[in-house]
Amino acid sequence: MGLNKHVLVLPFPAQGHVNPLMHLSHKLVQHGCKVTFVNTEFNHKRVVHAMNGKVSLEGSKVELVSIPDGLGPEEDRNDLAGLILSMERNMPSDLERLIRDINSMDGGCNRITSIVCDTYMAWGLEVAQNLGIKGAIIIPSSAAIIALEDNIPKLIQDGIMDGDGFPIKKGKFQLSPNMPNVSIAHMPWSYFPDEFTQKTIHHYLAKTIQWSHLTDCWLSNTTEELEPGALSLCPKILPIGPIKESPEFRSLGQFWQEDLSCLNWLNQQPPCSVVYVAFGSITMFDPNQFKELALGLQLTNRPFLWVVRDDYSNNNLYPDEFQCTNKGKIVKWAPQQMVLKHPAIACFISHGGWNSTMDGVSNGVPFLCWPYFADQEIDKAYICEVWKVGLGFDKDEKGIISRWEIKKKVEELLGDEDIKGSSKKMKDMVMSNIASDGKSTQNFNKFMKWLGE
Ligand code: UDP
Repeated sequence: MGLNKHVLVLPFPAQGHVNPLMHLSHKLVQHGCKVTFVNTEFNHKRVVHAMNGKVSLEGSKVELVSIPDGLGPEEDRNDLAGLILSMERNMPSDLERLIRDINSMDGGCNRITSIVCDTYMAWGLEVAQNLGIKGAIIIPSSAAIIALEDNIPKLIQDGIMDGDGFPIKKGKFQLSPNMPNVSIAHMPWSYFPDEFTQKTIHHYLAKTIQWSHLTDCWLSNTTEELEPGALSLCPKILPIGPIKESPEFRSLGQFWQEDLSCLNWLNQQPPCSVVYVAFGSITMFDPNQFKELALGLQLTNRPFLWVVRDDYSNNNLYPDEFQCTNKGKIVKWAPQQMVLKHPAIACFISHGGWNSTMDGVSNGVPFLCWPYFADQEIDKAYICEVWKVGLGFDKDEKGIISRWEIKKKVEELLGDEDIKGSSKKMKDMVMSNIASDGKSTQNFNKFMKWLGE
């Protein structure tokens, strides 16, 4: 019976993981499940703060709870190696305790019946196993990344990289046809600043795949048409994408408060005129590059909506020549899925995080890709080379994307009828997956059946 299903959902502590898992949670609730959503204490506080101190939204049946990540209050959570080592050491026992506590309440009639772990928190499957609870994983990145991580032992065996994930060969490789070419120098862990962090993340990713194999139920925010090659390499994956927000609970799980004033501003712009510029939750800018971006947007002479987060570590200074007032709107955090659905949007200058990629593709918005790190080069290769729904930027001799390059690429993209046509076609194809008889809907129904078995 639907009402007896109580699912615990465990996201990796980053915005690009909390969001899709929260959207999935609301979908589970719509299908009759109760959901307990476990953030780290640190992020739980941010989420509650962004909701003006509320711990839930009226009508949402997702219960927000938290456990510590094991770091002290002053320790740096941007140090990813420190964070994952601490989580792996400390969180499993706290998660087990939390589940035991929930299961002993109300005479056991509220017991957790299954756990859905972010693949990057797949140690949670061991906890589930210890407690005799069934577990699934959800992949918030592309299937291509999981295929890559699943093939780490083969890449080592083939002499492409060493056991710590450092490149041995040069050049690119392709795991299967229809998949992007991956540069050996651009593995997801290779962007981190020091060798210890790179090595730690490489080993952690290899372990998360091993834990993930504790279950056969792998959900993913992708579709069959987007990633046929990767899905054939990882037949376990059940694509259920695009995972869309549920509009009334959109803001639950956001680390920053959304600035809704941009929607009114968009209403006043002509159709298909606005350049939307957003780089997700982690990207940082070098001050010179930030300045060029501001001047490049100005130079396009088009309306733009630009998300500039006010993180403590972002010291972005607008150049004196920059005047945003007539053409542009800057916000600290946008309701992104609503923005990309808006008819005034013409294109998306994006870092190409997988959620932003899915947000743009499922709304038929063409991209200008500006990758920052991790999986974003691979997402860019999908966008520009495989699906052909966007263009990349070229850096100048100083390694900067200049204001003129920004203006040139915006004009080139908006004049390219092939890319615009492919974007619209891709939207229809991707969205058909979540129609009532669509393939992702059927896969989600299979998952619901699995939850009830
Ligand atoms: N997002 C948002 N408002 C913004 C920018 C981003 O709501 O102004 C959301 C976006 O819809 C996505 C997440 O934040 O769900 C960013 O995830 P993504 O994988 O694109 O990038 P990451 O932050 O992980 O680099």
